Amino acid sequence: MIKINNLHKSFGDNQVLKGISEQINHGEVVSVIGPSGSGKSTFLRCINLLEQPTEGEIIIDGQSISAAGACVDKLRQKVGMVFQNFNLFPHKTVKQNITLAPVKLKLMTQVQADIEAESLLELVGLKDKADAYPSSLSGGQKQRVAIARALAMKPELMLFDEPTSALDPEMVGDVLDVMKSLAQKGMTMVIVTHEMGFARDVSDRVIFMDGGVIVENSEPEALFSNPKEARTQAFLSKVL
Ligand code: ADP
Ligand code: MG
Repeated sequence: MIKINNLHKSFGDNQVLKGISEQINHGEVVSVIGPSGSGKSTFLRCINLLEQPTEGEIIIDGQSISAAGACVDKLRQKVGMVFQNFNLFPHKTVKQNITLAPVKLKLMTQVQADIEAESLLELVGLKDKADAYPSSLSGGQKQRVAIARALAMKPELMLFDEPTSALDPEMVGDVLDVMKSLAQKGMTMVIVTHEMGFARDVSDRVIFMDGGVIVENSEPEALFSNPKEARTQAFLSKVL
């Protein structure tokens, strides 16, 4: 479903991504791990064109998104993104946060979007929070609203950038459970995470990035129990 060929991204003379090639299949759950500053966020942000690649090609569903004239709005519809810091609209209720984009883009009427929002809130375990404002929610609840909001666009692919890193430890499990249930429903997901247990349990594949390249890429069991590359071994020995 996504094919990435020789992706490069520089900021000025800082070369952050140095030639990433990768293919992600429909329904696959891929975790991306690696040290801070290795380019993980930049990689995700290139996939939905929050950053414009310097070089290389990204093809989603057979269409090149990095080509001139590619329709960014269509792409954003297909690709949902969840950030570390939730990015909810503070002056909108939970339900309004969820329905805003699909109604604005005329994917649904307000009535349809409201019905959809209710079922998404049920999915993330927050049915009773529809009319609450973000400021009254815990971090874990905010993140589950952010996931529901991304799902409201009916994306084909979900990108998660350290979705639990800003949460108090007791909130992490609820968010990971929601992500796990999405994975089990067959959602295609790319997840940048420091939750090694989760990456090991839920992913079909784990990518280890360092210095703007993919150093190692394999099934979780192989990567965690038997990493081949010295850099992977060194990283895992620090975080496991
Ligand atoms: P990670 O998510 O693995 O911690 P990032 O992709 O956030 O890594 O960052 C990799 C490098 O890219 C860092 O050196 C960072 O300073 C740089 N970088 C990221 N985004 C920008 C930006 N918008 N402008 C300039 N430099 C950036
Ligand atoms: Mg990051």
